[in-house]
Amino acid sequence: MTNTRTQGCKCLTWARVPIDKLPMSEHHKDCELYKEERFVKVTFQGNYLIIEPHDADEYIEEGMVREDVFMTRDQFERLPEFDGF
Ligand SMILES: [Zn+2]
Repeated sequence: MTNTRTQGCKCLTWARVPIDKLPMSEHHKDCELYKEERFVKVTFQGNYLIIEPHDADEYIEEGMVREDVFMTRDQFERLPEFDGF
């Protein structure tokens, strides 16, 4: 099955709540189509952004703290726009 959209998925009707202030994932955590990926959270001067791991090398300035975070790609895509440190 290549269709990863919610439409028609059996998990559509399962109860769910947002996890740790992230946007709601498209699939339920227990759904077989739910798939977390690794992203990188960069914290700097009290603000943070979340980026793809391959972009993380651009954020290595003094004082920046980087940590791995895990979420689904659709959650990542629905995060609020980053408006700058
Ligand atoms: Zn599902």
